[in-house]
Amino acid sequence: MPRKIAAGNWKMNGMKSSLSELRILEDKHGDADIAILICPPFTLISACEDTPFDIGGQDCHTAEAGAHTGDISAEMLADAGASYVLTGHSERRTDHGETDALVAAKSQAAYNAGLIAVICIGETLEEREAGQTLDVIDRQLSGSVPQSADALTTVIAYEPVWAIGTGKVPTTEQIAQVHAHIRTRLQSRFDDGAEFSLLYGGSVKGSNAADIFAVPNVDGALVGGASLKAADFSPIIAALESV
Ligand code: PEP
Repeated sequence: MPRKIAAGNWKMNGMKSSLSELRILEDKHGDADIAILICPPFTLISACEDTPFDIGGQDCHTAEAGAHTGDISAEMLADAGASYVLTGHSERRTDHGETDALVAAKSQAAYNAGLIAVICIGETLEEREAGQTLDVIDRQLSGSVPQSADALTTVIAYEPVWAIGTGKVPTTEQIAQVHAHIRTRLQSRFDDGAEFSLLYGGSVKGSNAADIFAVPNVDGALVGGASLKAADFSPIIAALESV
């Protein structure tokens, strides 16, 4: 069975004072038997080490070390206490021009450092309206997911770009269609394709989480805005725990 994962992406948000939110979450979900993954900004990774949660970076460089001012390597993330890293988030693809090939190289760097890569894929609104969603998914899956991937090292997050931070959510039928497609593609490419955790991401909230988690092949969520406050993230975690 794929592992259930409730993942929070704090993006460029969070100060030391934000760690109090994790203490509230720990009181409520410290013994959860699903994975709870927090991806804070790099500056807070070490400070999260004493929480019971899995910790992830939001990006990594392809190289182990070197002259790359401002960048962070996968080894550094692991050294700071991370066990996961997001790769290919649409904000990185858009803001930093990250290509599928670069995302694959970053994901391979993550594996080399012993990290699990959460590889993000998803179509823009224009692509959806042009009927290209599944083509985009195919292109990103084949270009961004290294051939060395397996279900222990890789999580796929389907995040339609138009749903991220917008309050717009695809219908459960649309999510089901894309997740089933991703599952089929993974199964045809990887021996353990049935075991990869597939997360949905894009405006997940306490009020829609249960419906989304009831969709076949949805094994959890990657949550942005609603992961910043324990009061918002906790109902999402609770919904996943009760599936
Ligand atoms: C994200 O940042 O990956 C995300 C899904 O954001 P939000 O939940 O705010 O839409």
